[in-house]
Amino acid sequence: MPANASFDLAVVGAGVVGLGCALAAARLGKRVVVIDRDAQANGASVRNFGFVTVTGQARGAMWERARRSREVWRHVAAEAGVPILHQGLLMLVRRPESVAVLEAFLKTEMGAACRLLAPSQLQDRHPGLAAQHLQAALWSPHELRVESREAIPRLAAWLERAHGVAFRRETAVLSVETGRLVTTQGPVRAEAIAVCPGDDLFSLFPDRIAAHGVTRCKLQMLRLADPGFLLPAGVMSDLGLVRYAGYAALPEAAALRARLEREQPGHLDNGVHLIAVQSADGSLVVGDSHHYAATPDPFASEAVDGLILSEFEAALGRPAPAVLQRWTGTYASAAGGAVVVDTPAPGVRLVMVTTGAGASTGFALGEEVVADLFEGAAAWRMTV
Ligand SMILES: Cc1cc2nc3c(=O)[nH]c(=O)nc-3n(C[C@H](O)[C@H](O)[C@H](O)COP(=O)(O)OP(=O)(O)OC[C@H]3O[C@@H](n4cnc5c(N)ncnc54)[C@H](O)[C@@H]3O)c2cc1C
Repeated sequence: MPANASFDLAVVGAGVVGLGCALAAARLGKRVVVIDRDAQANGASVRNFGFVTVTGQARGAMWERARRSREVWRHVAAEAGVPILHQGLLMLVRRPESVAVLEAFLKTEMGAACRLLAPSQLQDRHPGLAAQHLQAALWSPHELRVESREAIPRLAAWLERAHGVAFRRETAVLSVETGRLVTTQGPVRAEAIAVCPGDDLFSLFPDRIAAHGVTRCKLQMLRLADPGFLLPAGVMSDLGLVRYAGYAALPEAAALRARLEREQPGHLDNGVHLIAVQSADGSLVVGDSHHYAATPDPFASEAVDGLILSEFEAALGRPAPAVLQRWTGTYASAAGGAVVVDTPAPGVRLVMVTTGAGASTGFALGEEVVADLFEGAAAWRMTV
């Protein structure tokens, strides 16, 4: 590619949000370049659970984005050779207050197609799961799970192969103005530019990012050995009901929160809740915790890992398998909103998911941004 090549859309950042913008534009026949400073994906998009969650997303725009993104994931996974490893979510709960939250959730539009299972029904459907210690389980059919560390590279390779998207890796973008980017490998011209920097809050448009109150959130993650049984879906527990806005905003969540503050203060103080998903080799990805800072420290705390593992054991009703791997990840976070879409210059959009939901909403957000940048883009939405 010539150093001064010109494109319809230049995307800064090859995470799931940047790839979502690239996909939406490529499907419109636009000439797209994606520029990333890293040699391969290394940010939040490959450190996450790969859990595309619909149920539990904040009511309204985020829930709609998640539903749309799940459909795009389904389509893209088939095209790009990305295995879907789970379909659905099981929320295993141990407290009557949690059951009250789930019953209230089922009465909302977000509860469509979800079901509350008694422990005996859960046991009948999934004999491999222990159920006697539970009050109930919510079954949601809406979720998908992919192995992000494989899915994101495959998605990028497919965009390159099938859609002619150009990738410039090991290339930092130093500045962006209307129609032009300056990179460490020279200038790039593009009619439109989408800056999707993940949790890099200081390289491009730091003043705009600061104005949205964006900080960073650090999460601890674990990979556990194959437990010897198959998880039928992604699993969450009571703690998720006070963390995910789709449940936590319901009035019934107040009583649950009060009980959790008495019974699990350490979990709440460290933002610990449970997600457990299974990989193709049987191993489990389990997490997570939430600690907020402009520059979070890079050290994983053994005590916090212990809290995650204790919640795994309480929810699954069995000992946690051996820990095979530990890592931390960070994402952009803002108390005031779940996404930032800003216009720092004409034809330029700053695009960030500012809550832990980019894998679940990034494709829909990309479509919205591209529709905004290029007239008529909404037409593609109807075709997938
Ligand atoms: C541990 C963990 C678990 C999570 N679990 C889930 C989950 O299960 N489901 C879910 O929906 N979400 C989850 N999330 C959140 C989700 O991963 C993020 O919201 C999403 O990955 C953000 O995508 P992104 O493309 O904005 O950022 P990133 O994936 O961080 O990508 C940003 C890219 O921009 C590049 N970049 C930045 N600035 C420049 C520059 N100036 N020049 C060149 N390149 C630049 C970076 O190198 C990077 O590759 C989780 C996050 C973490 C950390």
